[in-house]
Amino acid sequence: MPGRNFLFVPGPTNTPDRILRAMHVAMEDHRSSTFPGLAGPLFRDIRKVFKTETGQAFLFPASGTGAWEASLCNTLSPGDRVLAARFGQFSHLWIDMAQRLGLKVDVLETEWGEGAPVERYHAALAADKAHEIKAVLFTHNETATGVTSDVAGVRRALDDAKHPALLMVDGVSSIASLDFRMDEWGVDLAVTGSQKGFMLPAGLGIVCASKKALACYDKAKLARVFFDFGDMIKANATGYFPYTPSLPMLYGLRESLAMLLEEGLENVFARHHRLAEGTRAAVKAWGLSLCAKEPKWYSDTVSAILVPPGFNGAEVIDIAYRRYDLALGAGLARMAGKLFRIGHLGDLNELMLLGAIAGAEMAMRDVGIKVTPGSGVGAAEEYWRSTAKPLEKRDLPPRAPDAQPAAPAARPPVAAAR
Ligand code: PLP
Repeated sequence: MPGRNFLFVPGPTNTPDRILRAMHVAMEDHRSSTFPGLAGPLFRDIRKVFKTETGQAFLFPASGTGAWEASLCNTLSPGDRVLAARFGQFSHLWIDMAQRLGLKVDVLETEWGEGAPVERYHAALAADKAHEIKAVLFTHNETATGVTSDVAGVRRALDDAKHPALLMVDGVSSIASLDFRMDEWGVDLAVTGSQKGFMLPAGLGIVCASKKALACYDKAKLARVFFDFGDMIKANATGYFPYTPSLPMLYGLRESLAMLLEEGLENVFARHHRLAEGTRAAVKAWGLSLCAKEPKWYSDTVSAILVPPGFNGAEVIDIAYRRYDLALGAGLARMAGKLFRIGHLGDLNELMLLGAIAGAEMAMRDVGIKVTPGSGVGAAEEYWRSTAKPLEKRDLPPRAPDAQPAAPAARPPVAAAR
């Protein structure tokens, strides 16, 4: 199909040309004397994005799933109890992993579309007087339902209950797009992947661990080899990795971090909020609802949009892809067919997102959903125009004078002509 594919799944996100160019490198010796010059600054700048001064950053050649596993297997032992809420497909998969690793998970079943239930976390922690719960698992942004939850709130729940459990946070679809404050929120293990806010291909599982988390490493008896923190710490201390790193990913990460820090993290977060608000204005104008049940849970990185009863979200997604070259996110597991998702994170601006909104609008009309043509696009446009920052005054070049009818050539006076 001619023209660009419009990639609007909530990860992988668009990789900017600047990053693609940075990744286009010849392979080199990852044990050379100059290699530490590449690796060292990455760990420093990753910590800035996680907002941690003291956290230890890890870069695994993996994805978010690998980062989940690394956080569990380096800090816990078989049979340990952990507490987690299940309120979407990704919180579910992390629970499933914990169970398959041999941990006992106290699951707080929560309706999909709601945020993580901070009060129920608190109640469970307060009831655990013997401190058998060793870790709390918390999904900051549930990508399947477009729901953002209150990490600071769960920290308060732990503190109020005077509970020493580790706080593990899945920030796969939040970190580098939404405000994330590892130190301030007392997060012990924060995990993410490279293919969302970092605007890279999938291929890095990124973890930051607090000192308290690292102190659990020696006692933790879950099996680990590839994801062993100890091997990584030893090799990283000299600027190297314990196994062959993916060089293009590291060069890409260097560029990604430079872009995020040049834009400024707070500006990145504000841009994501603005883009999300415009998308939500479109959803409202279509007369549709988000899966997220309350505004306090609305995600600034992904909107999960419920299709009206009697329609199949998968059909909207299929038509959008085959007819308009637009990739929308699917409804997952129990949300299959009930919704489609627009990812609005990463390297993105208003006009790109208008393309996705227009494409979703056309695909919905194609399957018979009654939306007024142009309504979503118009609402998003209005939101973005009305909230746009005023432009600084600048001197424009003077306007060209209006064309004048050519004056008739003056005749020389008769006397002068002689
Ligand atoms: N956690 C969340 C919130 C996610 O959105 C995803 C993937 O989309 C994952 C975990 C799993 O990450 P990955 O697919 O990179 O393994």
